[in-house]
Amino acid sequence: MSKKMISIIIPCYNEEATLPVLYEELKKLSVQLEAYDLEYVFVNDGSSDRTFSMLTEMAKQDEKVKYISFSRNFGKEAALFAGLSNAKGDYIATMDADMQDPPSLLPEMVADLESGEYDNVATRRVNRIGEPPIRSFFARCFYKLMHHLSDIELVDGARDYRLMRREMVDSILAVGEYNRFSKGIYAWVGYKTKWIAYENVERSAGETKWSFWKLLHYSIDGIVNFSNVPITISSYLGLILTVISFIAIIFEIIRALVFGDPVAGWPSLVCIITFIGGIQLFCMGIMGQYISKTYMEVKKRPHYIIRDTNCSEAKKNN
Ligand code: UDP
Ligand code: MG
Repeated sequence: MSKKMISIIIPCYNEEATLPVLYEELKKLSVQLEAYDLEYVFVNDGSSDRTFSMLTEMAKQDEKVKYISFSRNFGKEAALFAGLSNAKGDYIATMDADMQDPPSLLPEMVADLESGEYDNVATRRVNRIGEPPIRSFFARCFYKLMHHLSDIELVDGARDYRLMRREMVDSILAVGEYNRFSKGIYAWVGYKTKWIAYENVERSAGETKWSFWKLLHYSIDGIVNFSNVPITISSYLGLILTVISFIAIIFEIIRALVFGDPVAGWPSLVCIITFIGGIQLFCMGIMGQYISKTYMEVKKRPHYIIRDTNCSEAKKNN
């Protein structure tokens, strides 16, 4: 019987400092998992450092090393999508390049899949040590909000580090939407998931690529992609305010008829006008979010553009 294949997908954006360390770990893995064929699918997400030349160098010496290099930075989601589209394995893992997703956990995850009980093994961190407290705070808020706003269940602290069966990956690829929020898509496709918890590990080298604003943007993406609640709230808000103002108008008319109409209450009027104006803008903003998502979706632009690859079947444009 031929060996099963495990693909490990690694998105890399300016990871020249971490790649050598990671590669050593992967080599150790290949010894531990010698019962399997391994391939490492590195996706170079438009790095401006030496990541690409390091990858081509590694590929020359090791046929397990596959690389897909983008024409510019398309973001981690696009990189994951490219990796999943081109991985050939029966089992497919996604892993960060910075060793925050410990490669040493993989054999355990493979064993879990082999037991046949699960379709994928996912990881979550039990703590957020080493992360700025403010970032942890907002992350927690995001998960709480998501829990209320959306049908899908996101797990707090879930990483993008997973090992999946081919069937699950095919289902994920079938979700071809342009605005990708992987954590949501994983939850949406379902399948049986085993969760493994581990302590947070700090980056082996280099800097995180996620600024506060990038994360905020990402969480708004997550909410808009997996929930229609905000837009429903905005229409209810509109309805409630209309009813309130209607009652207020009747009240004013009666008051004017009974007590005459002294010119008063103009500061309160200004307050009300700005209040309503604010709410209107807010609701328009929410609508705008959905419209802009729809706009990107109907344009049907490719998720990424490949500039260079050694994956034989990788389509140059996808
Ligand atoms: N990454 C990417 N494209 C980007 C940003 C990040 O491919 O635009 C990769 C990065 O190289 C790393 C992974 O995504 O392998 C996670 O990034 P990072 O470690 O910076 O995020 P954090 O762990 O701080 O959430
Ligand atoms: Mg990281």
